[in-house]
Amino acid sequence: MRAGIFGNEGVGKSTLFRALGGGEGTSPAAGRGAGVTTIKVPDDRLDRLAAVFRPKKVTPLAITFVEIDPGDATLLPPDTLDRIKGVDVLGLVLRGFSDDFHPPPPGGLDPVKEFRAIESELVVSDYLVAQKRIERMTKEARRDTEWTVLHKAVEALEKEIPLRQLPLAAEETRVLAGFRFVSQLPLLLVLNVSEDALSADAYPELGGAASSQGASLIRLSARIEEEISLLAPDEQLVFLAEMGIPRPAREQLLRGAFEAMDLICFMTVTGDEVRAWNVRRGTVAVHAAGKIHSDMEKGFIRAEVIPCEEFFRCGSMAQAKTEGKLRLEGKEYVVRDGDILHVRFNV
Ligand code: GDP
Repeated sequence: MRAGIFGNEGVGKSTLFRALGGGEGTSPAAGRGAGVTTIKVPDDRLDRLAAVFRPKKVTPLAITFVEIDPGDATLLPPDTLDRIKGVDVLGLVLRGFSDDFHPPPPGGLDPVKEFRAIESELVVSDYLVAQKRIERMTKEARRDTEWTVLHKAVEALEKEIPLRQLPLAAEETRVLAGFRFVSQLPLLLVLNVSEDALSADAYPELGGAASSQGASLIRLSARIEEEISLLAPDEQLVFLAEMGIPRPAREQLLRGAFEAMDLICFMTVTGDEVRAWNVRRGTVAVHAAGKIHSDMEKGFIRAEVIPCEEFFRCGSMAQAKTEGKLRLEGKEYVVRDGDILHVRFNV
């Protein structure tokens, strides 16, 4: 999974990136706008499962954060757009801080305006792509699902509605996916506030703006997070508590990204590997199986399912079976967060 960290010049992207720097597989940022870091998603359920099954390998979820520089010319030059198209969720850093060295811009800090301006760039970019495609299709006299859904998209975009807010049928979603429209990406707003504004509900109106556009929102101070990241792990906890920060930036970003993408996590356990997988909320068992292996989807028979909390209560699969807690579910079972899944399949 890839998450973009995007935003205007000077909003704190590089600072935030350095704060994330302790991540596994970190590659030192090679110049501006080039940071890449992969962070494993901490999940104590996996640790507890590993303690029971003692597998050779434990594989948590991981998200790769990539820094996307806006470029100098216009806000969304083609290479910036290409990089945005390459992510699964877009983190948009908004400026909510000022100090002696970084005075507020004329007119004052306005993260809501900043968000609207960028959202509007995303919308315009998609509008141009969709219009161009429609023109081509008109010449070719094509009138299929693609034609219909593109018109639907253009109609929304004309009203400045981002495509992530457009209700679509499954087939329409599939057709649109090929375009990788940028206003359709799950959006996570990251408000970078001043140190002294951390505990206050800075810019409360941003919450409303975010939810009206189907975006998630987190608040943090990149500067403080960077300082904290330089401390030893036990000192970090003390410092966080002193500052009244419930969760460090990396944890907030991970949670926020998951929320924006509307993902849930299920687990598989074998003697070899205890592993976490992610799927969209509402995914049915047969598709979840396909995430593990395409053969499992093709030859899906049934899934043995137990919520991990239930498993921990039972202590072992044998006990869970005895108590009738291990359920047999069919293709259409909607997988839940925390389910342990064992797919029976036949190819
Ligand atoms: P980028 O252009 O988005 O990568 O922004 P930078 O990370 O380079 O930050 C721009 C400037 O703002 C730097 O001088 C940072 O030290 C400063 N800055 C970033 N985050 C904060 C913050 O949370 N508080 C304050 N006071 N300054 C910050």
